[in-house]
This record gives sequence, C-alpha cells and structure tokens, in this order.
Amino acid sequence: MLIGIGVSPGVSIGEAYLMRRAKMAAIERSIEGRDVAGEVQAFRDALEQSRGQLHEVKRKVQSQVSSDHLYILDAHLMILDDPMLIDETITTIQKEQVNAEGALQRSLQKFRRVFDEIEDEYLRERGSDIEAVGDRILRNLMGESQFSLTGIMRQAVVVAHDLSPADTVQIDKRKILGFVTDLGGRTSHTAILARSLGIPAVVGLENATSLVPGSTPMIIDGSSGTVILNPSTETFREYLKKKQAFEYFEQELLSYRDLPAVTEDGYRLTLKGNVELPEEVAATMNHGGEGIGLFRTEFLFLGQESPPSEEEQFLLYRDLVKKMAPHSVTIRTLDIGGDKYAPDINLVDEANPALGLRGVRFSLTERRMLETQLRAILRASAFGPVRIMFPMISGVAEVRACRAMIRQIMETLEQKGIPFDPATEVGIMIETPSAVLIADFLAQEVDFFSVGTNDLIQYCLAVDRGNEHVAYLYEPLHPAILRALASICKAGREAEIEVAMCGEMSSDPLYLLILIGLGFTELSMNAPCISRVKRVLRRLRQADAGPFLEKAMQMRTAAEVASLADREMTALLPDIFEEALI
Ligand code: PEP
Ligand code: MG
Repeated sequence: MLIGIGVSPGVSIGEAYLMRRAKMAAIERSIEGRDVAGEVQAFRDALEQSRGQLHEVKRKVQSQVSSDHLYILDAHLMILDDPMLIDETITTIQKEQVNAEGALQRSLQKFRRVFDEIEDEYLRERGSDIEAVGDRILRNLMGESQFSLTGIMRQAVVVAHDLSPADTVQIDKRKILGFVTDLGGRTSHTAILARSLGIPAVVGLENATSLVPGSTPMIIDGSSGTVILNPSTETFREYLKKKQAFEYFEQELLSYRDLPAVTEDGYRLTLKGNVELPEEVAATMNHGGEGIGLFRTEFLFLGQESPPSEEEQFLLYRDLVKKMAPHSVTIRTLDIGGDKYAPDINLVDEANPALGLRGVRFSLTERRMLETQLRAILRASAFGPVRIMFPMISGVAEVRACRAMIRQIMETLEQKGIPFDPATEVGIMIETPSAVLIADFLAQEVDFFSVGTNDLIQYCLAVDRGNEHVAYLYEPLHPAILRALASICKAGREAEIEVAMCGEMSSDPLYLLILIGLGFTELSMNAPCISRVKRVLRRLRQADAGPFLEKAMQMRTAAEVASLADREMTALLPDIFEEALI
C-alpha cells in the first residue's frame, strides 16, 4: 500500500499503465566508425546515471516501504549489470555501427522474446522489469523525456512521474480509470483536470513509477490517497463496495441540477463550471452550472504545430457561447508558462518559470497571439454573453495595455462591419499578492474580479502548487489567505464590481460558509463539484456566515480555522459532514 495525496475522489480498480516516453523517439541510425567510441561511452554514462537514480530511489524509500517493494529496485539494479544487456548492446554498437539507442532497443527486443516464451507466469511478468530498466536507460540516453498518453490501448490506471498540460490534453476518459503520479499537489494541473473529468487520482507519491511495475493490478482511492498494489480478494471486494457507493452518490447528486443555488434564507450564489477540455462543457451543464466562469484556453494551443488561427478560435468560442446562452462564458486569454509550461510556445528558458514570462506577461510580449485571440473572442460576443479575463495581472499598467488592445480591435471590427458586443465585460484574475494589495486601484479599471486561489495561495504563501514536498504548507485556510480574500472582496464591494472565485478553493463545501461571509456571489469550479456545493449551500443560512467568519478571522493558524470549520459545519449539517463521501 502506498499513500499519496488524494486529489480527485472516487475509487478505481484496474491494471497499471506505466507511462513511457513515446517509442518513436528512439530511432536507430547508422554511425561512422569514428563515432563508435563516443556511442559506447554515452551508453555507459546512461547506465551509470540509471544506477545512481535507482540507488537514490532506494535510499529514499528504504524507510517508507516494506522490503517487499525494495526487491523491485534490487532487481532493477541487477538488470543494469546483466552481461546480456550490456555486452550485447556494446557489441552491436561496435560491430553493426548503430547508435546506442538503436543497439539498446535490439537487446531489449531479444530479452522480450525470451521472456515472452517463458511458461511460468510469474517469471514471464518479470519481463516488465527489464522493460522498465530499458526505458530508464533510454530516457537517460536521450536526455529530456517525451511521454505520451496516446499509447493506451485498453482501460488502465496511468502511473506517471508527472503529467504536463501537453500530456493531459490527450486524455481519453474512456481509457483512463485513474491517475497516480510521483509529483504534484492538490492544485497541480493533473489534479485539477482529474477532478474535473471525475477520474480518481492520487498524486505526490514520490516514487510510484519505480515501485509499480507495468500491468500490476491496483486499486486507487482518490479520496484518501491510498494506492493498493496486487489487492487480495477481500480488499478487492471491500473497494468494489466503496466504488459502488461512490457512484451511487454521484448519481444522486445529479438530482440537484435544476434546483436553484440558494441558501435557506435566500442568499443567491451563481455556480459556474471551469472548463479546459471541450468535454467538460457537457459535464458543466449536467451538473447545472449557470455558465462557464473560467474557460482555460491553453488546450487550444498545446500539441499544435502552430497556434490556432482566428477563425478556428472564433468557431470554437462561438459554439461554446451559443451552447451556454443565456448564461455567460468567461474566456481567459492564454495563460501559458509557469506550471503550464508548453515547450512549443514558451521558447525562453527560465530559472524561475512561476515568476517568469507567464500569463498576461507572455501575451503582452507575443502581442500578435493575444490580438488574434481577442479578435476571435470579440467576434464570438455577437452570439451570446461573453466576458474576457486576463490571467496573472500584477499591476494596473498591464490592465491598461490589455484594454487598449481591446479598444483598438473593437474599432477595427466596427470599421469592417464585423458584429461584436461593445459592452463585453473585461475582468482580471486576482492571483498575485501585488494584485491583492492594489485591488482597490485595479477595481477601478475592470468590470469584474475572479480570484485564482490556486496561484494566489502559491504566491502568497511562497509554496509551489505542484511540489509534493511542500504540499503540507499549501493551506487555503491560512490566515494570510483569509485576509487577502477579505481585502479583495472589500475592494470589489466598494467599486461595485463582481468578485468571483475560480480557483479550486471554491469547490470545497467546507469553505462555503466562509466564502459566503466574505461576500462572494459567484463561484466557478470543476463540474462534478457544482452539485456537491449546491447540495450543501441549500442547507446553509447566510445569517450564520457573518458570525462564523468573524470567529475564523481571529484564528492564528490554518489548522485552527480548519478545525473551527469542521466543528461548525458538522454541527450545522451533521448528516453531510460526518459522511466520507463529500
Ligand atoms: C488559479 O490560479 O486559481 C486558476 C484558477 O488558474 P490556473 O489554475 O489555471 O492557474
Ligand atoms: Mg492561475
């Protein structure tokens, strides 16, 4: 059993699919005689690097796991010394004059054939260890690895070191039963997407990719963060029951779809969906989302040879707007960079990407790309209510630059007689500490705020949102965050603009009363959470929010706020907060 961070609830049962680098990347080619020694050395270096990595993993896990799991690492280390693998590969490089990758692939193929013919199932399965080691050496030989999710042929639980946004856009929900990753925290990209797609996920396991051989039968519980390998029949039955209970609960939640999102004493909240992949639109509607509060447009740009044209974007935005009307769609301009690193687009190499050329900073450098996107959005505004939102704003000048560009585009559209809505609202994400501190100034410049707590917490608390080592410090209820939220809401109230929240904090029913107390009127979240939040909201009273918030603001630590929230919410709604399914 391995324990990580449960980031997307639900149980999944299936075989592990170890995510490997795309095979096509390792190409065999002929080399010149004078390059032979260099290739042999490169191969030896990759072996040494692999050995070092495995020893490091072993050292790290020694204190955490039983010796049952350590044998896998020992086996891998032994394979690295196997003469058939090493001598054969070197001989192939020398005699056949092929590059190291090609020679290694040939040896691995030979191994594979031998193992495939073994009758003993257990021994045959050990072939997957050789695959894993071979992959490791190959990865080291080739430097930066390229992974691919497209290789999945049948339903499986994906076990990966990490999933980049470029990987996750390839997700086929029918094939992926769950995610298990070495890296990550609650608001890392994979976690957000998994929740949104309703795929159970456990992240931050540190070394799952080394401990889980391919095809291992496994269970993951995305609520508790538990991963069980090779479960016994008894455990299997227990989790099957859990899985069924969870699915039944999910089904029940759909009955909230058409009910208004309102407290018992009439406080109306607008609950909207966050969308990244097109299929999430249907889920938002199924869960009764009243519009899209955050349309992350990054996926349009990832994995493409070139950025999407104005026409392509326009057609997509228009269809989305038409589908959601009369509800509005808030389209966020490209937020690339930082944890949303996209090698094809972010061409600069940065020491601190989170503090670098990301979000609106990137857009204001690559003005063409932003102009194209804004024109497409504005053209879509002729077909239904659209709002434009800019990410990573850290000062008034950026907002003004963006608005100036919008004005200019509107003028051109008008001159050309292309229809658009001149009253299209323009808003910004509040997700940097500087934006919080000058929220009153910013409120004078825009039509709405949407608080991006995922980044706001990261930047305010100086805790990388995707780093499992500091995940324990990533606390939405930290007094600094509550103060930040209070001051954002105050600035919004005074300027009479709407303050929404679209970070993951909006989706946890435990925080709901605090958010009502602070004065949020719009919450945007992953689709499955809309009905979860509504279910709780309809049983709360706004009258309870003020006194509760007052108490919460007095607390000195996040743990104190959390236990207060737990106590209060359980006292108010024992039937909901005592159950494990929430
Ligand atoms: C946020 O930062 O809270 C947010 C909603 O945006 P993203 O997660 O895409 O950075
Ligand atoms: Mg953000």
